[in-house]
Amino acid sequence: MADCCAVKAGLASPPSVLACPVCGHKARQVQSLTVKSLVRHLPFQMTPAQYYFCEATGCDVVYFPSGSEAPLFHRADLLVRVGVKEDRDPIPVCYCFGVTRRDLQDEIRQTGKSSVAERIKAEVKAGSCACEVKNPSGKCCLGTVTRAVQQAFQSIAAPTITKEPTYGQESRRLQPAGVNVLQQGERVSFTKER
Ligand SMILES: [Zn+2]
Repeated sequence: MADCCAVKAGLASPPSVLACPVCGHKARQVQSLTVKSLVRHLPFQMTPAQYYFCEATGCDVVYFPSGSEAPLFHRADLLVRVGVKEDRDPIPVCYCFGVTRRDLQDEIRQTGKSSVAERIKAEVKAGSCACEVKNPSGKCCLGTVTRAVQQAFQSIAAPTITKEPTYGQESRRLQPAGVNVLQQGERVSFTKER
């Protein structure tokens, strides 16, 4: 093989996970496209580097490089608020479709359920999302959305909420016609009658 003696001049691939130099939180790699898209002003002659996304709540660092040559980027350097690092509204949970934690809570307060995850799933299926250039993590927001919905259900004591919250319209549509009110403890059978 021609490359048996080739020297890989220090180009060992960067680790998939690296500790944030400020808080020590283990951070995952993020595509440079995500960093370039969301950092407000990139420095001239920026040293190419593998970047990592620190999602620790109390840490101001958002992106840090594998080497020390390239710059760190903090919350204020980004075009968007980083939801996992914010504790005050507006807290974004879905960047592609502009959904905030407040939006989730409002829908649950008003309707007793949450349709956001289903709506986002439909958009993802249709190829309408752009997480790699909109979400600071560069990843799909669905996991974050699902967790935020669960937290919202727990934090809101709405009278319409049942012990088994529905996350969409599906279960309602599947109920047999004429069954509108469930007795406590009663279970709905979704088997077809015909
Ligand atoms: Zn950090």
